Amino acid sequence: MSWSRIKGHDPIVNLFVTAYSQGRLGHAYLFIGPTGVGKQTFARELAKALLCERPLQKLVACDTCPSCHLAEAGTHPDLICAKRPDDVVELPVSVIREMSEQLSLKPARGGRKVAILDDADDLNEASANAFLKTLEEPPPGSLLILIGGGSADRQLPTILSRCQIVRFAPLPAETVESLLKEHEVTEPARLQRLLRVAEGSVGQALALDDEELWNFRTLLLKNLSANQIDSLILAKAWHEFVEDAGKESGAKRRRASLILKLLLGLLQDALRITHGIAPTVADRAEAETLRDLADRLGTDRLLGWMQRGLEAETQVDRMVQLELISEAFADYLGR
Ligand SMILES: [Zn+2]
Repeated sequence: MSWSRIKGHDPIVNLFVTAYSQGRLGHAYLFIGPTGVGKQTFARELAKALLCERPLQKLVACDTCPSCHLAEAGTHPDLICAKRPDDVVELPVSVIREMSEQLSLKPARGGRKVAILDDADDLNEASANAFLKTLEEPPPGSLLILIGGGSADRQLPTILSRCQIVRFAPLPAETVESLLKEHEVTEPARLQRLLRVAEGSVGQALALDDEELWNFRTLLLKNLSANQIDSLILAKAWHEFVEDAGKESGAKRRRASLILKLLLGLLQDALRITHGIAPTVADRAEAETLRDLADRLGTDRLLGWMQRGLEAETQVDRMVQLELISEAFADYLGR
């Protein structure tokens, strides 16, 4: 059944079905919300419903017609998907030009054309400008869906003023839990561990469902809780673990970012302790170690470490050389 794949976003489904039924569907939408809450899945389901050749009701795809099958397979000629290539920081003009060009062609299957642009946060001035004409005067009947990150602040005003903004909230814990179970995460300890770090994002939880990452987290905590942090050893272990993620630079960068997420989680827990709040970790020995860390560092230094961790996250996003990031961070922690 169409839309059944969309969990936790009923108001947004209703918004689109109502707008479509009343003939008020816009021509450009910007989806805003944390990574991994289902914006991409939603965009694809919406596209499928719009392209369906035998809709069950208004904007409810049949899931059985050729068009639905093509949309599901990602091979529908009237569904154009574009994103930032893995190895660059910004969306290149060439990607936007190609997308606009495809959008301007007549629909191959008769109905309309839908374009989904992922990583819309990464439009730069040049690529945004190349996009303006398509955004202002899209071919009749076509729909543009831009997918951004957690905040509309990252969008250029020229883009914001031409799109209707749709905000996706983090998913409630019970929705994340049922989605994780659908992904066959059922073992209670594993499930609970992921729920603690999900922050309302099933994508984030699944990315963190990697035993090696958790082993590295243990190693990290052991290093941090030493009276004297050995920066060289820490940087070396960190770098080797990132390199082990695979040959592809995108995989290494994703791992680097997940390490920082887990590290920030540990520091947040330590900070909780300094404020007399119980940490979220389930393991008693780990909680003890965090307590020692919190006592040794105190609130100010903990906040300093967290600030530095957030900076490192930005550097990972901004394509700074990964080895430099881990080296500089380990060096800072050793001071
Ligand atoms: Zn269909």
